[in-house]
Amino acid sequence: MKICIIGTGYVGLVTGTCFAEIGHDVTCVDNDPAKVKILQSGGMPIYEPGLAEMVRKNVDARRLRFTASTSEGVAHGDVIFIAVPTPPHADGSVDLSFIEKVAREIAGAMTAYKVVVDKSTVPVRTGDKVSETIKRYCKAKVEFDVVSNPEFLREGFAIEDFLKPDRVVIGVRSDRAVSAMREIYAPIHAPIIVTDINSAELIKHAANSFLALKISYINAVAVLCEASGANVVEVANGMGMDARIGRRFLDAGLGYGGSCFPKDLSAFVKISEQLGYDFRLLKEVQRINAGQMDRFVKKIIETLWVAKEKTIGVLGLAFKQNTDDVRQSPAIELCQRLIAEGAILRVHDPQAMSKAKAVLKDVTYVDEMNDVAIGCDALVIATEWPEFRKLDLNRVKRELTHPILFDGRNLFDPAEMEKLGFVYKSIGR
Ligand code: NAD
Repeated sequence: MKICIIGTGYVGLVTGTCFAEIGHDVTCVDNDPAKVKILQSGGMPIYEPGLAEMVRKNVDARRLRFTASTSEGVAHGDVIFIAVPTPPHADGSVDLSFIEKVAREIAGAMTAYKVVVDKSTVPVRTGDKVSETIKRYCKAKVEFDVVSNPEFLREGFAIEDFLKPDRVVIGVRSDRAVSAMREIYAPIHAPIIVTDINSAELIKHAANSFLALKISYINAVAVLCEASGANVVEVANGMGMDARIGRRFLDAGLGYGGSCFPKDLSAFVKISEQLGYDFRLLKEVQRINAGQMDRFVKKIIETLWVAKEKTIGVLGLAFKQNTDDVRQSPAIELCQRLIAEGAILRVHDPQAMSKAKAVLKDVTYVDEMNDVAIGCDALVIATEWPEFRKLDLNRVKRELTHPILFDGRNLFDPAEMEKLGFVYKSIGR
């Protein structure tokens, strides 16, 4: 199939590349000329495991190309995917101006039937608005279909998630569009849920909010564990073995962050409000999440008594492992909170340091993880990068002026850390 992707960010680039990988002919459009230039010259604007190689392979095979011209992309694609940002307004509602602009641009460039697919995360009923907008601005008055195909990939595991998804959701009105979508996804062996557009849009917000709810649930249980002497990891294992519950998303920590959960939850609360329902359960999820960071910062400050002028090492800046994405990263928030307390920070992340430099100034960026502890009063683990489990703990202990380690991701065993001579504070244990 001839496919156009508009918006070549984390979702658009993975989507376009994976579609090319399964044999489609793909043009990716982005209105950021610098990003397009990087991609056209063989570079990568983001870190995502395996993606650089897959992009190169498909560009070489002439199944994948990049352009800054929407009209070029629209002319190429029979099916056009929208993967532009849907950021939050200050009140939590979704800023749909990117989607609206792209709908107008597609309408202006269309000269034949197109299937316009929304892959961005949008509030229920956005499909209707996209339809109306295209109809209004399409001078050529050609036929088109609008489809909702929300994306569920996780950064850090994006290729695997895209090529082996639990399910593909397609919200659609016409049989013609269903056939096009089935043909596109045919090489991907996953259950396809064909439903109406409103339900497809709601599935995405409902799913992300539920996952965030699971994280807040275990974080609330972690508070009880700390108060009672229980161990949250043992509790999560015991809960998670129940097939009705499942172990995933039951890791207590610094709370959820990233470019999706916080904004999608706020959006869902707002959408509910607009539909006349006060989704208080989700408001509590948000409250628990914010409290988790407060508690961790308090733990650090209570232990150090005063954070001012203390040097603290922070391992991890990305919002989670395997990505360079620092958008709404709890690790960055933690750094900012410690800086506000007057602490001096030495920080390291395996992939996210260059992106972090744009938002986190006045800290020392350290290239090697074992060097972060040099001269620090305490070390903090803020992101669950697997390599942090391989820290040279004996060396770290020697480098620290005091062997204090705050583990916001429960990477180590408290008994072993104590045996090594650390003052070790983690979450819910
Ligand atoms: P992103 O910011 O990484 O990428 C969006 C891209 O769109 C940018 O490169 C931007 O330059 C480009 N863009 C903006 N306006 C444009 C226009 N008019 N024409 C062409 N390009 C334009 O965002 P993302 O993380 O890929 O998220 C995109 C959407 O997918 C959002 O709705 C998000 O909620 C959703 N989503 C994200 C993830 C994720 O893990 N990042 C997962 C599932 C769904």
